[in-house]
Amino acid sequence: HGKTINIFSIASGHLYERFLKIMILSVLKNTRRPVKFWFIKNYLSPQFKDVIPFMAQEYGFEYQLITYKWPTWLHKQKEKQRIIWAYKILFLDVIFPLSLEKVIFVDADQIVRADMGELYDMDIKGRPLAYTPFCDNNKDMDGYRFWRQGFWKEHLRGRSYHISALYVVDLKKFRETAAGDNLRVFYETLSKDPNSLSNLDQDLPNYAQHTVPIFSLPQEWLWCESWCGNATKSKAKTIDLCNNPMTKEPKLQGARRIVSEWPDLDLEARQFTAKILGDEVAIQESAPALNQP
Ligand code: UDP
Ligand code: CA
Repeated sequence: HGKTINIFSIASGHLYERFLKIMILSVLKNTRRPVKFWFIKNYLSPQFKDVIPFMAQEYGFEYQLITYKWPTWLHKQKEKQRIIWAYKILFLDVIFPLSLEKVIFVDADQIVRADMGELYDMDIKGRPLAYTPFCDNNKDMDGYRFWRQGFWKEHLRGRSYHISALYVVDLKKFRETAAGDNLRVFYETLSKDPNSLSNLDQDLPNYAQHTVPIFSLPQEWLWCESWCGNATKSKAKTIDLCNNPMTKEPKLQGARRIVSEWPDLDLEARQFTAKILGDEVAIQESAPALNQP
């Protein structure tokens, strides 16, 4: 059924591991191609590491846990959230084996509705990275579109500000053009100012795009309710549960409200986890779910 689709992701904490299993299932249910998942090992729980080999066997995918030691000379991050963001973007050239030529990053809290093979095969025009620009059809959010004014408007010079929940990395091009070094140099300079890179994994590639070019993906590759209007929802190829800075709705609540297939995928993942780890975990996992509105 064609070439393996390589997907990488990162998760920390019970909630994001629960999301990650749903993301995995949603990818697999929408492609007939072989899939290999790459997970950043750093924050995965022992329970997740116990379940994943059984999931791989049951659903027929490959996986590998990867990590990279933070370089001593690179400005360090102290908060866990920011360390995770850093691992999303800073070590793409060195964290995968050289034989891997392409990989797609998918946020743990994303639900896939299309064949990721289509994205994997897409011609990204010789650029090392491909991201989807932020939607502009949810007008309620105009006041939050910080990239339309001031520093970002000036800096972007007509280019798009892209969302970092999903992106393609042409690793061959990325290594050839020293994109990793370029990103780390920008990072090193910017991170000294505690007020910059407030969204590290997103601000950095958007900032660097004059040097590390980004191919802008068609809008339907990333729909998220906070920024995209309901008019484009039915075309969504992936849905991210991205934080809504206006409503600040909890992600679990949003998941059930926004994504019709989410409750079934969640149940399937929880039942599978319970089968492998035993009832104790099943009870732990179902309790917060039942308490949610
Ligand atoms: N993440 C995580 N644990 C956290 C926060 C973030 O594993 O506590 C990872 C996870 O892969 C998540 C990604 O970082 O999908 C981006 O964070 P999030 O989805 O919360 O950001 P948003 O899409 O809301 O901007
Ligand atoms: Ca997200």
